Amino acid sequence: MPAARERRRQPQGQDFVREPERDDPAAHREDVGVVVLARQPRRVEIVAERRADAGDFVRGDLLALPAAAEHDAAIGAALGDRAPDADADERIVHRRLAVRAVIVDAVAERRQRLLEMFLEREAGMVGADRNPHGGIVLYARSAVRTPSVVISSRGEERLHDGHPWIYRADVADVRAQAGDVVLVRGPRARALGHALYSDRSQIALRMLAYTAAPGQDRGDVQLDADALIRRRIDAAVAFRDSLAIEATAYRLVHGEADLLPSLIVDRYGEYLVVQALSQGMDRRLPAIVVALSERLQPRGILARNDPRARTLEGLEQRVEVLAGEVPERVAVTEVGIEYDVDLRRGQKTGLFLDQRENRAAAAQYARGRLLDCFSYNGGFALVLGRRCRETIAIDVSEDAVARVRENAARNGIAVEARVGNVFDELRGLERLGERFDTIVLDPPAFAKNKAAVENARAGYKEINLRALKLLAPGGTLVTCSCSYHISEAAFAEIVYDAALDAQAHVTVVEKRMQGRDHPVLLGVPETYYLKCFILRKLQ
Ligand code: SAH
Repeated sequence: MPAARERRRQPQGQDFVREPERDDPAAHREDVGVVVLARQPRRVEIVAERRADAGDFVRGDLLALPAAAEHDAAIGAALGDRAPDADADERIVHRRLAVRAVIVDAVAERRQRLLEMFLEREAGMVGADRNPHGGIVLYARSAVRTPSVVISSRGEERLHDGHPWIYRADVADVRAQAGDVVLVRGPRARALGHALYSDRSQIALRMLAYTAAPGQDRGDVQLDADALIRRRIDAAVAFRDSLAIEATAYRLVHGEADLLPSLIVDRYGEYLVVQALSQGMDRRLPAIVVALSERLQPRGILARNDPRARTLEGLEQRVEVLAGEVPERVAVTEVGIEYDVDLRRGQKTGLFLDQRENRAAAAQYARGRLLDCFSYNGGFALVLGRRCRETIAIDVSEDAVARVRENAARNGIAVEARVGNVFDELRGLERLGERFDTIVLDPPAFAKNKAAVENARAGYKEINLRALKLLAPGGTLVTCSCSYHISEAAFAEIVYDAALDAQAHVTVVEKRMQGRDHPVLLGVPETYYLKCFILRKLQ
């Protein structure tokens, strides 16, 4: 049995395709893995691989052995029994060698077939030579391995807690390109699952599949990400079908909460709007479009890839038609109201679909004089306005106010829509001694990040205080926050403070959140962003 000893023999010059690699021994050590194949009649045996992570070449069939090779009987036996080529053994044996014989059916002379088999499609083989004993030695660059990322133990803990994001600070080693589906390994090389990798965002990994999930999505096999995404899209769509949503516009795929991190798909009648908010999802858009087209046969699919979040990923902000045709305006209905939606330029993907059920719930209490603050194109004003004597809608955007007027006319509902800053308008109305029976506060997210939380609290308190003062006794305040940095408890406290300052006794009639088509994934607080309280001011 040949002694299994380490000898750092570099592959020979002519083995390499590229000059610079030849001249840089460090690069060889880093980038070159060696697979030694011993030839037997009509088949090939891998007898050894260099590098602890060489298992990636043969998709995990190798055994990682932490012990020094020369002290390990298992390695010795494998090499001695199976390798007819002592010289080859010497070339590849490494202290932290992963070795296990794997027998494959292949014809040794057909180098191309070997490449396809071992090195996958993007084979980065840099050389091969035949040794005098009939074996073949392949030198392959590490770039051909399944892309992988090693995370820290803190990152692993996060995964165990059910959070699908790993931040850059918890990434220990990256062998992947931007947007790759990567095999995620823990600090002791254990496969944890597969994720989308971003080389730019602070969120370096977004988990797609967990090794621990019984029976499927094993981390040590290649993941067919497109097939997985298709299955998840099918499940997400089937769930929405089961909800019997009272609208022709609603969310079909809600990112993390549908286990499709950073992917949004909204339906607007016969059209779909998608957002891919990470490098990985962006790369998969063509397959996503095929999956959506087959499942739903939309007349058109629009990419609203203009959220600022894409710049954090180094992705372009772009709005484009991905399939079929998408008209300038699309008519949809929601809780009995018809809207004309501009899918290309409207906020979010066109409408605030997440408020549908809150509008319907709030309508049950609406009466008398209604004030809809931050009205956008009139969602609350129209649904609640049907039951009210008089409706005033305020938004700072002239465009939004024009839409409220159009939508009001279209639905035959009287709405006085005003352009104005709600903070000023509420004070103005208070000065005039106005009273309302129903008030809606649905502001944009005041706290876009943690640093903004204190100011955001002050902003929320101010508008709630003013609204409670304007509210007639017995009246209803529908108050919302879509900042996920302000928790439900924090929001309740703000509203309580406002009630104290307004010297009003207030009851909480309903605590609500975003609609059922935007579900919350437990363990992922970021998916619980919209809070909506329906409050009653007592006599
Ligand atoms: N209530 C709407 C959605 C509101 S989105 C619906 O149900 O569809 C928030 C809106 O607030 C946007 O239309 C934005 O133009 C408006 N806005 C932001 N700051 C404002 C301010 N200070 N005063 C009035 N409107 C404001």
